[in-house]
Amino acid sequence: MSKWVEIILPLAIRNAYTYRVPDTLSCPQPGMRVVVPLAAKEMVGIVNLVQDEAPDIEPEKIRDIITVLDSEPSVTQKQLDLWRWIANYYMCNLGQVMEAAIPRKLQDRQYSLDPSIRRRIKLPQYEGETSPLKTLSFAQQRATDEVKTAFLEHPIVILQGVTSSGKTEVYMHLIHEQLEQGKQVLYLVPEIALTTQLTERLKQVFGNKLYVYHSRVSDGQRAELYRQVLQFTWAKEKGTSEPKGQLIVGARSAVFLPLVNPGLIILDEEHEPSYKQQDPAPRYHARSVAVMLGKQFGCKVLLGTATPSVDTLYNAKNGKYGHVQLTERYAGIQLPIITLIDLERQYHRREMYGHFSDPLVARIREELSKGKQVILFQNRRGYAPYISCTQCGQVPTCSDCDVAMTVHLSARLLTCHYCGQTQPFLSRCPKCGGEMRIHGFGTERLEDEVRQYFPEARIARMDLDTTRHKDDYQTIIDDFAAHKVDILIGTQLVSKGLHFDDVSLVAVLNADHLLNQPSFRSYERAFQMLEQVSGRAGRHGSRGEVMIQTFDPEHPLYALLQEHQTDTFLNEQLKERESFHLPPYSRMIILTLKHNREERLLSASEYMHQRLVYIFGTRCSNVILPSITRIQSQYIRQINLRFALGENISKAKEMLQTEIDAFSSQPEGKGVNVIADIDPL
Ligand code: ADP
Ligand code: ZN
Repeated sequence: MSKWVEIILPLAIRNAYTYRVPDTLSCPQPGMRVVVPLAAKEMVGIVNLVQDEAPDIEPEKIRDIITVLDSEPSVTQKQLDLWRWIANYYMCNLGQVMEAAIPRKLQDRQYSLDPSIRRRIKLPQYEGETSPLKTLSFAQQRATDEVKTAFLEHPIVILQGVTSSGKTEVYMHLIHEQLEQGKQVLYLVPEIALTTQLTERLKQVFGNKLYVYHSRVSDGQRAELYRQVLQFTWAKEKGTSEPKGQLIVGARSAVFLPLVNPGLIILDEEHEPSYKQQDPAPRYHARSVAVMLGKQFGCKVLLGTATPSVDTLYNAKNGKYGHVQLTERYAGIQLPIITLIDLERQYHRREMYGHFSDPLVARIREELSKGKQVILFQNRRGYAPYISCTQCGQVPTCSDCDVAMTVHLSARLLTCHYCGQTQPFLSRCPKCGGEMRIHGFGTERLEDEVRQYFPEARIARMDLDTTRHKDDYQTIIDDFAAHKVDILIGTQLVSKGLHFDDVSLVAVLNADHLLNQPSFRSYERAFQMLEQVSGRAGRHGSRGEVMIQTFDPEHPLYALLQEHQTDTFLNEQLKERESFHLPPYSRMIILTLKHNREERLLSASEYMHQRLVYIFGTRCSNVILPSITRIQSQYIRQINLRFALGENISKAKEMLQTEIDAFSSQPEGKGVNVIADIDPL
């Protein structure tokens, strides 16, 4: 009996590829890796489906698979189901999901998952003594019990606990219970918090049951980790494994691991936008995928945060998710005092040192003299965001992107933060010879100023530029934790989940640009980020302080932040979203069109717009000029689609996909890149 197999190949192709299984090979199962010919090349793909009947293609066009690489599926049936769901929901191809989902090494035909192969890359081992769990405080114990009770009714529960309330300790108790039953636990964290203190804490308690999976571990290690998780799965399926659980800590891509019996999925800092993959496809949100995984395995999902996203809070209010609160910090420490500094008044009175107001300088000096540590937050890297000519006003911009070049003064460079292109720093205008002036400030400039105003202080800076190498991040954090550094300057990298005993003061040098983003989510984001970074202050011993410099101290967001009125703030956001029919009160899809010639793009976008209005009517926006209109020589336009909650969105996606396919094959759309982003952030 001949068999045919549909193969997933790691390519952005829409159509499935079908091959014949030659008589010389035994038929592979779905999820096995095979080598197939593609044009003049050979590629590793994954079997999606096995078919008994020949597909409806001319027989001589169907080629044979070359070899089968696996003796057992390296992708489980559950994973394949999840891939299909993602491809469907996020409107992309299975090949794109495959690329995101399995370690690159598995696409190498030499790589074998066979358990009999003994020589493998070594993963970090956590032998040694483990320590017992900490005893929960009364409030923590109550929250833990409430979470468990909530799980009886809701598969998804949100644990909203203020910063330093001990959410991590609560998780650890819940994890422990699962591991004791031989279950797996998937613990998702935003990328950057990973390499730091969390794994340290977890390995002390869970020892070698801990597995860490994220993009900073090498490709070989990722593959080995995948293999070990798969091994566990095979063993469980055959009933041969010891009753040992597995704790997998990972960034968003860990949702793709071959799980078998997860008892709990934890997604910490659920409000973090980095859980959504922006580019390339699949543009998935790890929170949505985690919820889906929970459904697949019938397992509980716990979303943790100090500042829930508006979307999650909506689900809690609806009764769809359980909701548990932890309102006090561990050990009775109070949440930090938040002080606002009016920059307009400070500048007017000339009471500024560079970008530091007098009161801030005084407080930093005071804290340093007491032997405390300070964190300075500015969410912009580089020296300054742009320069301009004092005579003709000329601003140097990137030749390929429609953005100003960022100043990196120590390197004497101007850099595009969108494509990475650089050019030498200009002190004179290339057009008129006028003098160039530097505007605004980033972390690099702050560092310069700190050296000038606090010459005795030991300083470190943490941003993308200072953490290019694998261990940089760790080194900076270790040094700061060991108090070898007094002042830590950083972008949002310093805001996430870190714990330092001696930090008594956190300063936000300019909060205004956080609030002034061109998105309906900008206040939500700003609040989350400010609350998060504030949460680094005064976590041990005595109450901390946060100083926020702003030109707009009357902004209502600050009053709520000062009172730590997260719920009031979020409820107001919900009301606003409702009255403007914005998510979560509607569903959005953003269609992005790109082409390297602007006129072509314009007419193509207009054409597409007409088609979409014809189908979707008023659900379709006009053609929108995004805030950055060109990146890497590609001009960009967008069309937003917005659906009411009751509408059949899967049907709408199908219609949209049909339209995109038709568009691409018509002269109007040829060569225009069309990207659909579902539930965009
Ligand atoms: P969160 O995750 O809510 O920000 P953490 O779990 O990091 O809070 O807890 C804050 C600090 O308090 C950590 O240093 C943690 O070790 C400590 N802590 C919290 N709960 C306990 C406990 N029950 N016993 C001992 N230390 C605790
Ligand atoms: Zn550029």
